[in-house]
Amino acid sequence: MYIVSACLAGVKCRYDGRDNTCEKVVKLVEEGKAISVCPEVFGELPIPRKPCEIVKDADGLEKVLSETGEEYTSEFIIGAEKTLEIARVLNAQVAILKAKSPSCGCGKIYDGNFNGTLVDGDGLTTRLLKKNNIKVYTEKEIDTVID
Ligand code: SF4
Repeated sequence: MYIVSACLAGVKCRYDGRDNTCEKVVKLVEEGKAISVCPEVFGELPIPRKPCEIVKDADGLEKVLSETGEEYTSEFIIGAEKTLEIARVLNAQVAILKAKSPSCGCGKIYDGNFNGTLVDGDGLTTRLLKKNNIKVYTEKEIDTVID
């Protein structure tokens, strides 16, 4: 069983109320091979919501902030923990998550300056899944993952 980002599966759960439909992810869900998750909704954030990025302060401490400075770190952490719980219940070994998101991103995320610049790194949910030995891929890598 795969865990997949709900927005890739066609759910309109993005910060702006839109989706990121990826037909191959939709097919996995339809075939019963994947369960969709949205960590930010699991963290009880609304749809739509303010877009957030992971920001480092002067001491290198990371926080999840909106562009106008509201902090949502605890919501993102709760969402990551709930996603891990679901992965464990399903015994999922692999997740296919939306690239660049502060929750779901894998390998590259926005740099915290809200100007579209990417840096090396993972979203908070991806970090927690990887720490628990779940392999995470983005939708761009889906062909290398699915049979
Ligand atoms: Fe998609 Fe993940 Fe953002 Fe939810 S948290 S909208 S699943 S990228």
